Amino acid sequence: MSYDTDNVFAQILEGKMPAHKVFENDQTLAFLDIMPVSLGHTLIIPKTEAENIFELENEPGSEVFITTKKLAHAIRASLKPTGLILTQLNGTDAGQTVFHYHMHIIPVYEKMPLRMHGKEVEDSENLAKTAKIIEKAVAGIESS
Ligand code: AMP
Repeated sequence: MSYDTDNVFAQILEGKMPAHKVFENDQTLAFLDIMPVSLGHTLIIPKTEAENIFELENEPGSEVFITTKKLAHAIRASLKPTGLILTQLNGTDAGQTVFHYHMHIIPVYEKMPLRMHGKEVEDSENLAKTAKIIEKAVAGIESS
């Protein structure tokens, strides 16, 4: 296993680096992508050390998917995208840039082109505003 315990998502999990969190439970954490390709671009990670799908155990993997579904519903209800993409990259050749397993939720909006992957850092205030909207929507789903 080649997991780098100092990778940026490990640092977020350890509280060493800030993140615009939208949901957290015992096994997973969801937060906004700092370089979103669209409004509401969200990342879901397991709280276990796994670089990619080949290192991910079944249980944290299932929990990531359950959280992904929850967030997909919350994002659809709150931001009203017209479509939604799930992506998950494994290995440098596949385009993976952060080596802690993660699922991307990319909301798609009619006539709004997607930005380039990992290129433009979003304004922190905008991210905070979006995070609050999604966090509220997911809390609503949790309590219903
Ligand atoms: P991937 O290319 O699939 O490994 O995706 C990694 C994603 O992490 C990219 O979309 C980056 O924009 C995003 N990212 C990198 N650093 C951070 C960070 N500190 N907080 C949130 N997202 C990040």
